[in-house]
Parts: sequence; structure tokens; C-alpha cells
Amino acid sequence: MTASDEPGWFPIALRLRDARVLVVGGGGIALNKVRLLLAHAARIEVLAPTLDDALTALRDTGDIHHIPAEAAPDRLDALLPGCRLVYAATDDRTVNRAVAARADALNIPVCAVDDPTPSSFITPAQIHRGPVRIAISTGGAAPVLARRLRERIEAAMPAGLDGLARFLRDARGHVVTRCPDIDRRRRVWEAFLDGRGAEAAQRGDTETARQILDHLLDDTPVTGEVWLVGAGPGDPDLLTLRALHLMQNADSVLYDQLLPPDLLDRVRRDATRVFVGKQRDRHTMPQEQINAELIRRARGGERVLRLKGGDPFIFGRGGEEIEALMQAGIPFQVVPGITAASGCAAYAGIPLTHRDCAQSCLFVTGHARKDGTLDLPWARMADSGQTIAIYMGVSALPDLCAMLVRHGLPPDWPAAIIERGTRPDQRVLTGTLDTLPTLARANSVGSPALILVGEVVRHRVISSSFSEEKEAKRL
Ligand code: SAH
Repeated sequence: MTASDEPGWFPIALRLRDARVLVVGGGGIALNKVRLLLAHAARIEVLAPTLDDALTALRDTGDIHHIPAEAAPDRLDALLPGCRLVYAATDDRTVNRAVAARADALNIPVCAVDDPTPSSFITPAQIHRGPVRIAISTGGAAPVLARRLRERIEAAMPAGLDGLARFLRDARGHVVTRCPDIDRRRRVWEAFLDGRGAEAAQRGDTETARQILDHLLDDTPVTGEVWLVGAGPGDPDLLTLRALHLMQNADSVLYDQLLPPDLLDRVRRDATRVFVGKQRDRHTMPQEQINAELIRRARGGERVLRLKGGDPFIFGRGGEEIEALMQAGIPFQVVPGITAASGCAAYAGIPLTHRDCAQSCLFVTGHARKDGTLDLPWARMADSGQTIAIYMGVSALPDLCAMLVRHGLPPDWPAAIIERGTRPDQRVLTGTLDTLPTLARANSVGSPALILVGEVVRHRVISSSFSEEKEAKRL
């Protein structure tokens, strides 16, 4: 038999409550296995001449039973019969193999730790959320790979999955009684899991989940929901786990100008995509129409994702959209995102606050125009002990810098502009209130870009996430 057609390991899930499990070994390797077993209410017997401190503590609390002896053949022959599982978990491979041979001869499943050859079972890497368990095995070929996979799956699993599984378990009897037909029952469960009910159960709102389940059982149409989600400044790795989860569950997505395509790629493939692209002075879809579209889709039962650059509540008109939804009685959720100021500052290596020179940080919009002039709290902005992060300020940059100087900041006060922050083609230009407008024009800085003003710019550090090659583009 070649390696490729070698039969794989057969996964099963085993009940261990009150079953005898023998662990041979008294050190760290045995401890790892004992820890895995503890949650399963097995009767754990540990065979070893001595125990390390952690195992001793477990013996003292009665969690394990210690048999202070070597794993000699006659001892094993006395202990093995009646065991459901055996772990050979000493740091001596010869001893482990001898234990494995003895158990195998008695047909008792045995795992010699880190040694698949003499083992008749292996312990997979596990992810566990309440009653949900996912086991990952590479058949002992690559435990580190299994662990990496586990991390990825773990990250993709919503935090409330255990609550959802418990809700489903508890509702099962009720659903069977209300809906005896098995096919229809399956459709109800599917509609529940694909809809707002699952979301509610996940966040622990069992009352809403129960109502939605009853609506489905009654065939009453269920209203959808709007998710106002911040997608961060551009790097998809800066999405929150919650944002990613909702992106993967949406029926439709309304997105705007700021969102790079690789972020949008992470939205569920068959979700309807609606571009409502806002640009300065060129609103593709007026705000009222966006609100109306959100409401119309949610009323039709859709889970509507309103995906916004950065954080939805920072210069994102998120508040206005929520007000409209509340007035229309549409359920909604808001998910924060990393705002441009923190994303850009981190990726440009400029701290937003600094013990020596910036005790606060002000977020302002450079778009606040009144009669063609900027209408900003200049006196407050010209305070020297702070950092100012200016959003939407590229076109007003010369005015902004001039006004700050007029209100008291020195012309050589440090300032920076970060274009397309956190994206692969990020550019950072640093200068002063005097030089930055010229620098930005000479380098054709475009939107989106964030302006940072304050002494923190002098504390800039170039981190490894920002390569020298990119840095060379700075000037
Ligand atoms: N809600 C968003 C801001 C929307 S206003 C947030 O919290 O970040 C749009 C402005 O944000 C842009 O004009 C620009 O000033 C800033 N911005 C957003 N993404 C940016 C990025 N990747 N790089 C630089 N500035 C960005």
C-alpha cells in the first residue's frame, strides 16, 4: 500500500463519563492529556512512580487517582482490563511502546503520545464551543499544521456559537411537536439558521430567537435586519471577527466609495451588491435614498449589510441611518471598525498621543464648510498639547494649515498626510504646516488621505509593516 492510499484515521466522538481512562506518566506530557480528559468526567487513573506538582495538585483535589508504580508488565495486566482508553504519556518512547503493545493485545484503544505507529487512536486538535466540537486531524502527520488550522477555524467561529447550539438543543422538542413533518421541519431550521433568529440566539437574546422561531413555525413573514458595520481603513486584516462574520451572512450589501475591492471580496459571494458610492460633492445616492433602500430590503426579510469604511460612527453618518431605521421599526446592529486615524497612525508609525507632547487627540472633519469657508473650532485646534486628526481634508489642506498658523500654531509645527493608509500603496508625507500643502500638491496626494498635526509626527517610527521600499516613496 502506498502512502497516498493509506487508510486514514476514523474519527468518532466518545462518551467518557465515569469510564476508566489510564494515563501512564507523571510529567508534563501526561498532564496535557489529563487536562483534556478532565472536562469529560472520566475516572482518570495515573500510573507513575512520582507526579509533578501540577498532577500532585490534581491528585489532592481528587480529580485524578494516582497509582505510584512503574509501568511494569504485571502492573499493566492488572490495570488495563476495563479501561476505555489508555494514554502512554511518559517521555520515554520505549516505555510508551511497551504500554501500547500491552493495551493493543487486549484490544483496548491506546495512544502513545506523539508516536502514531504503535497507537490505535490519536487525539485530534479540537475546537469547542458548548455542545459544538470540531476535531482536526492530520493523522499524526503534522500536528503543528493541525494547530494552525484550528486557529483559523477558531477565528472564523462566532463567539456566540455555544449559545446558538444550546438554544437549538432546547428548542428541538418544541419544534418537533409544532411541526411533525420532517421536510418542513428541516426548512424551518434552515430559515432560522440563515436568518435573524440565529444571530439573536448567538448574542444570548433567546426571547427574540424564540419569537422568530415561532414566526417561522406559523409561516409569518419575518422582518430582516440591518447591520451597520465598520470595515476599517482598508487592510482586510483589520476587519473585526464580528464584521467578517456578518459579511459572510448578509443577503445584500450597500457599500460606498471608501471600500477597496479585496474587502468586498470577503462578503458572501451570492449577496446582492449595491453601490451607493459617496464622494465629496458627488453623492451617487442621496442619504435619504440610502435610508429608504435599507428599510425596503429589511422589510423584505433581507439581512442587509451596510458596510462603511473605518468606524460607522466616526464621520460616517451612521447615526443618521440608525435614526431612520429606528423610526421605521427595523432591527439593527452596529459593529465598530478601526477608524482611519488609528489605522493610518499605526501603519505610518505615528503615535496619536504621547506622554511628552500630546495628552489628547482631536478628530475633525476638513469638510465642514460654510459659505465656502472652513467652519472649525480653530481656537481649540490650535492648542499645542494635542494631536489633530483631520478627515476629508485634502482639498482644504492649504486653508487648514494657514488657519492653524493664524490661530497661533508655529509655521514649523509638524504635520503629516497619510494617503491610502493601511493599504499596500500607502504613502506618508511628513513636513510642517508651512511645507505640507506644497509637498502634497507636488506628490499629487489624493483621497482618501488623513492629515495628522502635532509634535507626535516627530516621534514617527518606521515599523516592519511599512517597508523601506514603500518609505522611499515618501518624497
Ligand atoms: N468612517 C470613516 C471616515 C469616513 S470620512 C472612518 O472612521 O475612518 C472619509 C475620510 O476618512 C477620508 O476623506 C479620509 O480622510 C479618511 N480615510 C478613510 N480611510 C482612509 C485611508 N485608508 N487612508 C487615509 N485616510 C482615510
